[in-house]
Amino acid sequence: MNAIAEPVAPVAPTTPDPLDFAERQDGRFVVYEFRGKTFRLDREKARAKKDAKRVINGPRTPELNVLPLKYPEAYRIYKQMKANHWEPDVIDMTKDCTQWNSGALKPKERWIIEMGVGYFSSAEGIVGDSVLHAIEDNLTAAELKHAVLRWIAEESIHMDSLLHIIGSLDIDQDEVTAKFNDIPSIRAKNEFITRHMPELKRGLDLTVVENQRKFAKALFGITQVMEGTQFYGLFAMILSLYRQNKMTGVGQMFQYTLRDESNHIALGRYLLTELIRENPLIWTAEFREELRAFMREGVALEKDFVRDCLPEDGVGMTQKEFLDYVDYNADRRLTSLGLDPLGTVTTNPFPWLDEVIFLKKEKNFFETRVTEYQTSGSVKNTAEDDLV
Ligand code: FE
Ligand code: MN
Repeated sequence: MNAIAEPVAPVAPTTPDPLDFAERQDGRFVVYEFRGKTFRLDREKARAKKDAKRVINGPRTPELNVLPLKYPEAYRIYKQMKANHWEPDVIDMTKDCTQWNSGALKPKERWIIEMGVGYFSSAEGIVGDSVLHAIEDNLTAAELKHAVLRWIAEESIHMDSLLHIIGSLDIDQDEVTAKFNDIPSIRAKNEFITRHMPELKRGLDLTVVENQRKFAKALFGITQVMEGTQFYGLFAMILSLYRQNKMTGVGQMFQYTLRDESNHIALGRYLLTELIRENPLIWTAEFREELRAFMREGVALEKDFVRDCLPEDGVGMTQKEFLDYVDYNADRRLTSLGLDPLGTVTTNPFPWLDEVIFLKKEKNFFETRVTEYQTSGSVKNTAEDDLV
């Protein structure tokens, strides 16, 4: 029962699929080609439209047509997100139910699963809501809004996965909510991240640099601090259980979720980079220090939470490694944005985790579950790529 599962074979670091589109000039047209489909745009009009596009404060148009692409990386990340599509409710929870109800799990292991359900039930909702009202509403370029809307949809899938866990294990939802809403480390983490959201949701004037910084900080807070650092401690614990063949259905869902998070982190980083490129006044030394201080606070709160989840070593886990993992993730988020790291943990204490997150191609969700999906009749529609 406690045997360590076969380690996942090492895979090359994931290089995202290249965006399969080409852009070329043809007389007075600019031509985009996507998988055999051709889009011809008037060159002058396309150039004017592209020049006018902005991350924020650009023209708002009712249509959500991503062409002409000014931010191709956003569309590439959209395609990557779509390639990772998964559905929670077909994940087999039979073995999880047996383990959960038969006393096969130690109290510490049950506690980790309960903390996972308790924390992420509120966290996934906070992310979805904040991304919609504080981020998506303020973006103006169509291809950016388009990618962000997919991100929001994925948060709904994550919320649905928690429902699948709660329903399968027959967990009393009211009991879980009541129990976890009062855990100080969870409350502190949630309050920390939502502190500035009400202001951002009211439609701040983003032509004011100080407000642009608030927007940038929200983007940074959600994607780099919350999704990029605070989500990883407990995810790592659940995936450690998964690696020991415990609660494997739950483990699979968290595995797919964490892979989604890696795209949200990348998209957040890209949005921030482009935002700052277009609005360089945001990026003062003082503001960069403010972001580092925000991350430092997020790390301290996360460490309190890790100590609540794993109060002492045991069940094949060492608390110190999870605390180091928080530092390690915080610093890789900071340095990927050109910010100075906070600490000294430069080695990943869990190298196996990246391999678990970036599943091998053969573990593609649809390839392993193609039979179930074909009977649902939905596969063909979602497999075709259509722009517009
Ligand atoms: Fe999520
Ligand atoms: Mn996310």
